[in-house]
Amino acid sequence: MLALNKRPGKRAMKSRTRVVVIGGGIAGCSTLYHLTQEGWSDVVLVERDELTSGTTWHSAAQVTNFGMTQTMVGLKSHSIALYKKLRDDPDYPVGYHHGDGGIRLANTEAQMQGYRHFASMARGMGVEFEILDAAECARRHPLISTDNLLGGLWDGEDGDIDPAQLCQALAFHARKAGAEVYRNTPVTGLTQHKDDTWTVHTAQGDIDCDIVVNAGGYRVNEVGAMMGVHHPVASMEHQYFITEDIPAIAAAGHRMPLLRCPISDYYARQEKGGLLVGFYEQGCKTWGLDGISPGFSNDLCPDDLDRVMDVLEGAFARMPALMEVGIKRVVNGPITYTIDGAPLVGPIPGKRNAFCIIGLRAGLGEGGGHGWLLAQQIVHGEACYDTWVLDPRRFTGHANVELTALKAIEDYQNEFRFHFPHEHRPAGRNAKTTPLTPVLAAAGAEFSVVNGWERLDYIKPAPDFHPTLSFDFDEAFDIVAAEVRAVATNVGLTEVNGFNRIEITGADRHAFLDRMVCGKVPQRAGRVGLAYLLNPHGRIKCEATLANLPASDRGPERLWYGSAAASETHDMDWLSAHLNPGEDVQLRSLTNDQTILVLAGPNARAVLSACARGDWSAPAFPWLSVRESFIGFAPATVMGVSFSGELAYEIHVPNRALYAAYQALMAAGAPFGIMLFGARAIDSMRMEKGFLHWKSDLITEFDPFETGLSRFVTLTKGEFIGKAALLVRQSAGPRKRLVTLDIDTRRAPAHGGASVMQGPDVVGTVTSGDFGHRVDRNLAYAFVDPALAIPGTALRVDMCGDLIGAEVIAPSPYDPGFARIRS
Ligand SMILES: Cc1cc2nc3c(=O)[nH]c(=O)nc-3n(C[C@H](O)[C@H](O)[C@H](O)COP(=O)(O)OP(=O)(O)OC[C@H]3O[C@@H](n4cnc5c(N)ncnc54)[C@H](O)[C@@H]3O)c2cc1C
Repeated sequence: MLALNKRPGKRAMKSRTRVVVIGGGIAGCSTLYHLTQEGWSDVVLVERDELTSGTTWHSAAQVTNFGMTQTMVGLKSHSIALYKKLRDDPDYPVGYHHGDGGIRLANTEAQMQGYRHFASMARGMGVEFEILDAAECARRHPLISTDNLLGGLWDGEDGDIDPAQLCQALAFHARKAGAEVYRNTPVTGLTQHKDDTWTVHTAQGDIDCDIVVNAGGYRVNEVGAMMGVHHPVASMEHQYFITEDIPAIAAAGHRMPLLRCPISDYYARQEKGGLLVGFYEQGCKTWGLDGISPGFSNDLCPDDLDRVMDVLEGAFARMPALMEVGIKRVVNGPITYTIDGAPLVGPIPGKRNAFCIIGLRAGLGEGGGHGWLLAQQIVHGEACYDTWVLDPRRFTGHANVELTALKAIEDYQNEFRFHFPHEHRPAGRNAKTTPLTPVLAAAGAEFSVVNGWERLDYIKPAPDFHPTLSFDFDEAFDIVAAEVRAVATNVGLTEVNGFNRIEITGADRHAFLDRMVCGKVPQRAGRVGLAYLLNPHGRIKCEATLANLPASDRGPERLWYGSAAASETHDMDWLSAHLNPGEDVQLRSLTNDQTILVLAGPNARAVLSACARGDWSAPAFPWLSVRESFIGFAPATVMGVSFSGELAYEIHVPNRALYAAYQALMAAGAPFGIMLFGARAIDSMRMEKGFLHWKSDLITEFDPFETGLSRFVTLTKGEFIGKAALLVRQSAGPRKRLVTLDIDTRRAPAHGGASVMQGPDVVGTVTSGDFGHRVDRNLAYAFVDPALAIPGTALRVDMCGDLIGAEVIAPSPYDPGFARIRS
């Protein structure tokens, strides 16, 4: 029998439960509902006031299916299906205008091209968007003019929902399934116990629980502070107004489709007989950064239409009918943003049994789906889609309150303008740099941003070189080709900063890693190996380069675990969560202390030998070796590994000595004409070698067999995480297989998400693509139906609306025998 808290005059509150969800907006209600749907009924939601008294009550509540990744499209489809079900539920019907349709406008060909790509991507999720010309846009939306309009993307599922009814319905169904909702119950503190369980302190008493969920909306950081966490979420003021009735709407005889405008940054939907028009003004304002009044509940910010005049004019020009009617009501409320515009839905970094569903800037449309994916993560450890685009661990130490605010402003200002490939926006740049960043900048570096790090992309021919933003190959194509040529024929140097590196020490380190990876851990000191970590479902979680280092004056016997820069927090969380009590294993992050210089090309050995003492010949230091050494006098750990497919060395250097090592390598390389090369060249070369990128090609939706990584699986060894599930998957056979495609165009790369077609059927999805300059082929990776994963199979890829021929080819078309790497 559960102990019950006594609340005078109110229903008794549980004193113990499995999950406490904090916050009763759409995020919290959806999470609670979906936890019950996943089978957990002993769950509780606590809300400081009434349900929906945060942002949710005044939301414009548009519900679109449009998204820029398959995960986003999939979760929005779930929202729509759920909302339709709730609308039709006689017990608790919800007001939902589903299927009014919506248009995203465009006045540039580049924007239209992007829409075509997103349409191709959505098709793989069973969602059909239409691409319209300007005349058709105006035919479907009789209020708009076609001036300065090329066309748009049509989402037939678009609509809007009553936010309060939606949340009440979710709470109603959750309660029916056993969940409890405590209103007027502010959470005042959180205590985590030694066994990782929690006590949630509320104004009405304490609740002990296994798991807490922060769904606190704009109060996210108040709740975060209770567990010692700052979340990279900032609120912006956001306004819309509602007009009086517009005669042209009544005359049209049908509801107006929704409108979203990247030309002038507003949206509009029908509200009764008029329009609701919302704005994303350039002169936007953050809100609540220095604290929020405790009394701000069911509340709004003061109206300030002067601020939106710039974008309002654009809306008037597009819909002249707006100028003829009065404004009935203005709403200005806080809306939360993150660093990249996508929410944070998943485990809270550095915490156990703590999750969040925060930073929702389109929470009504997406909330149904986010709650679904979060509940799956809580109950099953993983969701049906790879949720990296939502993972709270994708931001690391640089994501402080000031940087978050800068990026929130930038994202708000660009609300409807998607990022183009290779687009890295200016706010918050130089968040993470190395001593080499200014040196590379002086050498003409174009930088991309990876987990906050300024990463060398390529060397520009002139300071004012700015390639066109496009889904096609851009003007850097020939520059990248020249960098690849230098590496393939001579020698090149690049910096790979932010590479995640965890030092693993302790007597049990081998046993620990052996349990974590599905393949082999290098047993001999001085050896390196590639390994994959699976989740309990047998699907791919992490990829790591493992280096076995002997004891030296730099440290005891140890293993280095190296992985993608973006995985810094994710992988540390995963490893540390699986340490057994009493196990003699220590994990220490070296990520921010060391940087890699990659020396690659047939002359790499000669350059290394010229600046690093020792025998670097192939017999003395073969491929997959590691050795502590010096580059000049700079301490370095050198690994014989290659992502380019050429003879190459990864040279790991403490940041304090990085510039010295760089100078020594450049001086040793000068007689050879050493060239700098960047990440774009590496990407091209790795495509030619069959090397995969974490979270593009390596995702939690597939196992290592499906991903073509059987050679990294050792089923004959003892237990490892995911083994049992992997055996079951193996006997069931693959659902998809990763293949390499040779694509019959030189105009554009295939972008991740593009649909692979056979006749009218979608048979797969591209994960990444780039031109292979050494093999002179346009390459892509894609997961396709297993029967099609046979070299020679002819397919087509929907590349921004063009169906381009593609042939399945054997992986690693460049030097398939790996002779160059081993040379
Ligand atoms: C003007 C405007 C228009 C918008 N239009 C759209 C749109 O068209 N489509 C769309 O999809 N989205 C839209 N949004 C965004 C959408 O409304 C939000 O993403 C969504 O409402 C956020 O829901 P939430 O549950 O995360 O936060 P909230 O609704 O703010 O809920 C958080 C809850 O947590 C509670 N809480 C906080 N602290 C505590 C505590 N210590 N203890 C207990 N409870 C606590 C709060 O009281 C609150 O009820 C709009 C937003 C604004 C401002």
